Amino acid sequence: MTHCVPSQEEYVRTAIEVSTRTVMSSIPDVLVVGAGAIGAACARALALAGARVTLLERPSPTGEAWRASAGMLAAQVEAGMDNLGLDLAVAGRAFLRRNAELLLQTTGIDVGLMECGILRLVRTEAEVETIKEQVAWQRQQAHRADWLSVDDVADSWPWLSRCLGGFWSPEDGAVDPERLVAAFRADAVRLGARVVTDTALGLDRNGNRLLGVVGDARRYPAATVVVAAGAWSGRLADLPRPLSVEPVRGQMLAFPWPAATPAAIVYGEGCYLLRRGEEMLVGATVEHAGFDARVTAPGLAQLHRSASAVYPELTAMQPLRSWAGLRPWTPDGLPIIGEEPRLPGLWYATGHGRRGILLAGITGDLVARGVRGESLREELSPFRPERFWNW
Ligand SMILES: Cc1cc2nc3c(=O)[nH]c(=O)nc-3n(C[C@H](O)[C@H](O)[C@H](O)COP(=O)(O)OP(=O)(O)OC[C@H]3O[C@@H](n4cnc5c(N)ncnc54)[C@H](O)[C@@H]3O)c2cc1C
Repeated sequence: MTHCVPSQEEYVRTAIEVSTRTVMSSIPDVLVVGAGAIGAACARALALAGARVTLLERPSPTGEAWRASAGMLAAQVEAGMDNLGLDLAVAGRAFLRRNAELLLQTTGIDVGLMECGILRLVRTEAEVETIKEQVAWQRQQAHRADWLSVDDVADSWPWLSRCLGGFWSPEDGAVDPERLVAAFRADAVRLGARVVTDTALGLDRNGNRLLGVVGDARRYPAATVVVAAGAWSGRLADLPRPLSVEPVRGQMLAFPWPAATPAAIVYGEGCYLLRRGEEMLVGATVEHAGFDARVTAPGLAQLHRSASAVYPELTAMQPLRSWAGLRPWTPDGLPIIGEEPRLPGLWYATGHGRRGILLAGITGDLVARGVRGESLREELSPFRPERFWNW
């Protein structure tokens, strides 16, 4: 299964077509619920594909994942041994790498792409074998990945604590998630999308016919609705089936980035650290805490301990700030992307868990192609909504 990323030429051609189109109707073709990472990316891709798009975002922020996110493009270091979703993750990374420059040109927003690679430290003998297998498997799939010895790690990252080796993924990296969302939104607006501030309460439907969305302020008629409300997606009323998306809290800490230490992204046991600006971001807890997006003393203490095991100087340092957000989590760790078979016109783009920044652009692209009528049966099969609650 491969996922195509649109070329720069295709992008420019479609953008010109869209910008010269006359919008005749006041009824939007597509209503996207949620202007976070996924919703904003979908709105941009749909507008680029020629749809009239309305992007609905609620007025008061409460724990959105994109605001809390570290923004890593950890396509390979986070791939499990089953490698489910690896193709999508690699396509997601490629999409963002190719679109960073385009977004800068069209919106003036620099999404802060870091193409510095990601190092995953290995600390137990058992993990050494697993990671070596993982590296070998990824190389067989034509991905760049290396096993680094203890000395390799110590030579290149002398400021890290001793370990048994490392998984080096030179293609992985990061973006600034807040800037990415701002850029997707701005580009969507440039292409004709309308951003409306209101809370979606539920679907507006007449039996098996989708009419649009019921908002807090008013109704929004739409033939096509994309549910991209993150951890809150399943809370929309009148969905045709329960949505298997639950909030999973992630707490984060920031310390000053140590002077003279080069930028890096490093995974340790139960934590990662990366440079953004002058800060060292440390993340993240993985907690089922309902819709409570507050930080907790035990959560932050655990993070501080884990990060100090990677970078011992942190032990004596005080964090500059802390925050938390709610990831949209599915039971199998894969997103839900596709049209609801029971209600034509209803699309889901949610449940991206800990990889929604990485997967935002490619998800938008897939949704736009699907809404436009392209058959994506094979590409979307692992992510189809009916894999849960199929009775
Ligand atoms: C601490 C932390 C660290 C992370 N680190 C990474 C990382 O390094 N790399 C990575 O790829 N991913 C990371 N993630 C995950 C990533 O942030 C999420 O997967 C991604 O943000 C999900 O995007 P989303 O648009 O589905 O949800 P969100 O980003 O939560 O956005 C949903 C949007 O919908 C809006 N909304 C909700 N309900 C309604 C409604 N009823 N009406 C209107 N609007 C509504 C919300 O206000 C919000 O703006 C991290 C997440 C957390 C919490």
